[in-house]
Amino acid sequence: MDGLNLEIFPLQYELKSECRIGYLCERHLLLRLSSMEDYIHVMSKLAYYLKAKDGFYHMRVQNWEPWFHPEYETSTVLAWISFPSLAPNFFIKESLFTMAKTVDKPLHVDMEMKNKSRPSCAKVKVEVDLLKDLPKRINVGMRRLGTGDIIAWIDIKYDYMPKYCKSCRLQGHNVKECFVLHPVLKPVKENKKEESAETSVTAANMKRQELMTKDATCTNLVIDK
Ligand SMILES: [Zn+2]
Repeated sequence: MDGLNLEIFPLQYELKSECRIGYLCERHLLLRLSSMEDYIHVMSKLAYYLKAKDGFYHMRVQNWEPWFHPEYETSTVLAWISFPSLAPNFFIKESLFTMAKTVDKPLHVDMEMKNKSRPSCAKVKVEVDLLKDLPKRINVGMRRLGTGDIIAWIDIKYDYMPKYCKSCRLQGHNVKECFVLHPVLKPVKENKKEESAETSVTAANMKRQELMTKDATCTNLVIDK
């Protein structure tokens, strides 16, 4: 990871406030941000490309944890959740944050929500712990004296949410799909003697995937809020 141009990171990714970036260890950088806006902005991107002498490094970003270990990944991610059947009279930030707390930690509502220009669906960005059970619906009913309670369930929809393996402590797969726990699930290597044009392509694709995986994991950006 020699020759990375770290100074241009704040400009390249349009950060609004001061940030400090430096090497945490050989394969990880620590990025210290000074505003929640930048934190949400940085954490919301799936991948970064940092310029170096010999090309670009593909980088993934993860939240800082006090028990950070370079071999493991955090189970915390940022994700959009939405309430597609919620009545527009609930489209108030405080109300949405109260509802979103049933999922985890609400951080932000989108611009359409702020402008009230999308009455069909309310969205909230939430910091989510992938190890928690995520609710699929929430009761937004109310308690009324005399006439009884009103029960009104609304669905909660989740945008892309990575899987997390509790055993490997890595994002990207869960314990049911884990090769370490279930070696039988590991794809069988191609037999070279019977190699055909088709299998050559497959092997090339697999090799490319291995390289991409190596790239993706070799340079993680760790965020310290
Ligand atoms: Zn695993």
